[in-house]
Amino acid sequence: MERHDRLRQIADRLDRFTEATTDQLAEAVGAEGACMVAMTEPEPPVLTGEEVSDRNLAERLCSGCMFQEACLELELRWSGPMQIGVFGALPDEDRRDLYPIWRARRARQWGGGQR
Ligand code: SF4
Repeated sequence: MERHDRLRQIADRLDRFTEATTDQLAEAVGAEGACMVAMTEPEPPVLTGEEVSDRNLAERLCSGCMFQEACLELELRWSGPMQIGVFGALPDEDRRDLYPIWRARRARQWGGGQR
C-alpha cells in the first residue's frame, strides 16, 4: 500500500472522533494511555535523552496502547505537525504528512472551528 493511502486510511479512522471534544480526548488518553499508566508504576520507564532509545521505548509503549487513535487525534489538535517524537504510534515524520490530510477533513467537518 502506498504511504499516502495508508495515511488517508488513518485519517478515515480518526473521523470517528469528530464529535469528541479535545477535553474528552485529553481526559481519556491522560487516564488510560499506556505511557501515562506506565509512568504511575513503581518502576516507570526512564527516558534517556538519546533519540533512538527513547523512540524505541515510545514505540513499544504505543504498540500496546488501546488509545492510539484517540492519542493521535489529540496530538494533531494540540500540536499539529510540530511535535517531535512518537504519539499515537506514529512518528513525527508521518504525523507531519498526515496533518494536512487530517486538517482538510476537520476544516470541512468543523467549518473552520475547533472542538
Ligand atoms: S498511543 Fe502512545 S503516546 Fe499515546 S497515550 Fe498511548 S502510549 Fe502514550
